[in-house]
Amino acid sequence: MGENDPNKSIEDLQKQLQSMFKNLNANAQFVPFGQRTDEERTTDGGSDASRDAPEENAALAGIRDFYLKPKEIRDYLDRFVIKQAEAKKVLAVAICDHYNHVRQCLENAEVQDMDYTKQNIILLGPTGVGKTYLIRCIAKLIGVPFVKADATKFSETGYVGHDVEDLVRDLVKLADGDIELAKYGIIYIDEIDKIASKSTSGHRDVSGRGVQINLLKLMEDTDVPLQSQTDIVGQMEAMMDIMQKQRGKKQRTVNTAHMLFIVSGAFDHLAEQVRKRVKGGQIGFDQARDGDDPNATYLRMVQTRDFIDYGFEPEFIGRLPVRVACDPLHAADLEEILLQSEGSILNQYRSDFRGYGITFQDTSDAVSAVAAMAELENTGARGLMTVLERIFRNYKFELPSTSIRSFTLTKALVDDPDAVLHDIMKEYQSEQHSSLQTAIHEYAATFSENHDITLIFTPDAIERLMTLALDTGRTVNDLCSEKFQDYEFGLKLVSRNTGRTEFTVDRAVIDHPDKELSKWVVDSFRKSED
Ligand code: ADP
Repeated sequence: MGENDPNKSIEDLQKQLQSMFKNLNANAQFVPFGQRTDEERTTDGGSDASRDAPEENAALAGIRDFYLKPKEIRDYLDRFVIKQAEAKKVLAVAICDHYNHVRQCLENAEVQDMDYTKQNIILLGPTGVGKTYLIRCIAKLIGVPFVKADATKFSETGYVGHDVEDLVRDLVKLADGDIELAKYGIIYIDEIDKIASKSTSGHRDVSGRGVQINLLKLMEDTDVPLQSQTDIVGQMEAMMDIMQKQRGKKQRTVNTAHMLFIVSGAFDHLAEQVRKRVKGGQIGFDQARDGDDPNATYLRMVQTRDFIDYGFEPEFIGRLPVRVACDPLHAADLEEILLQSEGSILNQYRSDFRGYGITFQDTSDAVSAVAAMAELENTGARGLMTVLERIFRNYKFELPSTSIRSFTLTKALVDDPDAVLHDIMKEYQSEQHSSLQTAIHEYAATFSENHDITLIFTPDAIERLMTLALDTGRTVNDLCSEKFQDYEFGLKLVSRNTGRTEFTVDRAVIDHPDKELSKWVVDSFRKSED
């Protein structure tokens, strides 16, 4: 290769860019430069081909071997998510359909060319009722990457807010740069109702509409470049890609055809809108069944035209054929979450305390009280976290520094956590004091037994020793053995000189044991000379 080899200068430039990129990207988790395309992976058989080749990709194996039945998915969800029976059923079927289709496409390329409507899903329902949790559990079960974002963070152009395509790039990041796996990931977009372009005052919100159109493209079959065009790192990567292209290499993209899109939102007012539509023809007849939440009942009756009236583009809502409403959670459900869900927040607190070697029991009336307080928060199961955080805040701060190893979450504790903590600490301190006092007397008794010399500890010496033991976490025996290590010899000397066998240990002796002992010894010699 000569000096004028164009490939050589491109290589140099590329190297420079690469090192700049590395510096810029030191803390970011972007796909590392040099990540090969999936096409490259399958063709060049490089040294790390065993990891990259789709056939041998362990993560992909879960999708190739996807043979779960809807009821198996439902049963798995039951372990974590309380209530939401309808959502579990609908999701289980949609997920099985989607990944069965993906599996068949992987098995047989012809299936790929057949018409297929993706089972993208729209989840309706109030906050904190398990919408995200359901999808998170499903993604974990299947072993696919899962990305969640709020629709409100996107802007139409991507210059002000984020670009919807960032979601796809995030999937690749979560799949540790494994493009092949990212292609089968799940993208979850919350607060989708906030990008409805409401026709208030006769105008449609152009930005919301723009985001819908961008999402629409994503939900279809789109190749998303791995570099964002709107950040500096992305632009540099893009330049490097262009150079790679000049050298005959393909641009790195990830295809969205097999990604599953799930959107969700509280859809305030939509229930009311549906109610008006439904009741319009049946005045006086309320469709809500007894015991059912009226909002959830009407959200279950939602039709495409309701979404369009709400401010969604027909094409956008048409790409979301699976619709399901989640129910609000009441106190009894929240109680069940605390007691039954494998992901119960109470378990998290248990594990937090276990980190300090502390365990706690709970009483059933305490759990009911927590659930009742959480319901008042009006944020679904999130209310449980708010309430428990408030209850346990000072316990987490105080207890790890004590030797308390267990306590009970009682109703009294839930009602007034600080008062109960105050009592626990008071009792602990008095227990500590009496056990430390006993230890000091035991030390003195042993000393007397072993050396025929009596040590009389004054109250302020006892107080001082207790403080030292509590502050340092050392035992009384340990502290005294260190402080009085020369006392056996010294006091025996004093005793021989003066015949004294009783010594008063005051605070000065505790603080300066050697100095005080020297004084006693020197005095005893003086006295013996007199
Ligand atoms: P949202 O409906 O707003 O998406 P999430 O699914 O994020 O709410 O719920 C927040 C947390 O509350 C979850 O991580 C989970 O711990 C708990 N949670 C919510 N709903 C349920 C439920 N039905 N069963 C068990 N836990 C739940």
